[in-house]
Amino acid sequence: MDLDRVSEVLADEPAYRSRQVWEWAARGARSYAEMTNVSTAMRARLEEEVPFSTLELAHEAVSSDGTIKALFHTHEGHPLEAVLMRFRDGRRSVCVSSQSGCPLTCTFCATGQMQFRRNLTQWEILDQALHFRRKEPIDHVVFMGMGEPMLNVDAVFAAARRLPDVGVTHRRTTISTVGWLPGLTRFIDEVEEPIRLALSLHAPADALRSEIMPVNDRYPLDDVLAECNRYFELRRRKVFVEYVMLDGVNDSVEHATELAELLDSYIFKVNLIPYNPTGMYDGSSRERIQEFKDTLHAAGFSPTVRLTRGRDIAAACGQLAATA
Ligand code: SAH
Repeated sequence: MDLDRVSEVLADEPAYRSRQVWEWAARGARSYAEMTNVSTAMRARLEEEVPFSTLELAHEAVSSDGTIKALFHTHEGHPLEAVLMRFRDGRRSVCVSSQSGCPLTCTFCATGQMQFRRNLTQWEILDQALHFRRKEPIDHVVFMGMGEPMLNVDAVFAAARRLPDVGVTHRRTTISTVGWLPGLTRFIDEVEEPIRLALSLHAPADALRSEIMPVNDRYPLDDVLAECNRYFELRRRKVFVEYVMLDGVNDSVEHATELAELLDSYIFKVNLIPYNPTGMYDGSSRERIQEFKDTLHAAGFSPTVRLTRGRDIAAACGQLAATA
């Protein structure tokens, strides 16, 4: 829901009116009709002038593990996807997109293969979460869908700051980045809320990282890691490192040792991601992932392996390409 539009339409009403409308939407209302403390006349005006969602749902798929993927279109028809993950412990986590497509070209990620359209607005980001909030309460949001959040900081920060209204605290909100420095620097300096930071690292040295993540040529490891260290100094919060396990590419014991030397285990928490097929690589075997994990463990880290969700409906990390 575009709350700026709501405020414009209700400009001659007291300001708390648009706040009331937002509170209903944030709590999962399905229509203006449900907003019983807003007058019928006002509701009729909104009905006429402000679409209930900025996004149109084009398709929805449900995985055998309960994960739901939604394909939306913006008003101009640009595609984007969001995913609801349901975990056995009751956690409900929504993965949102920050852009339609992505201008970066990480070789293992399907989103990089599709056409980049544009940055999403804060309302388009929030409407992805609200779509799922209308089904059930949600408690986590990760900015790990399509796009690079640090290329769209104003909208991403604004959306993240409103998430507590939707039931998602800052500590349960994570913004993931390839290490796009201008945006990362702004995040560190401007965001005082305890929103979590994740870094997509995927390689322990520049040559390999540049091969699989061309953005590394622009913002090399030393600079990105120095900025993460500054974040820890300033905010005293750990940085989550994402490391996708590509068979024969970045998954050897030597790579693990190099990674352990590169990172301070006090500052970085490593999360190993089983590769989700996108046609370009093979994923590392379980044994290889275990070995990598053990090596990090022996070096003082407490690595975790990410639970794969929604692979059968191409809803897993790196598979969002808006094909259906
Ligand atoms: N652009 C941001 C936000 C997207 S997060 C970023 O890269 O951090 C999506 C995560 O999934 C990133 O860590 C990305 O590297 C990872 N990923 C991409 N393709 C993948 C794949 N095929 N299998 C598993 N993880 C993948």
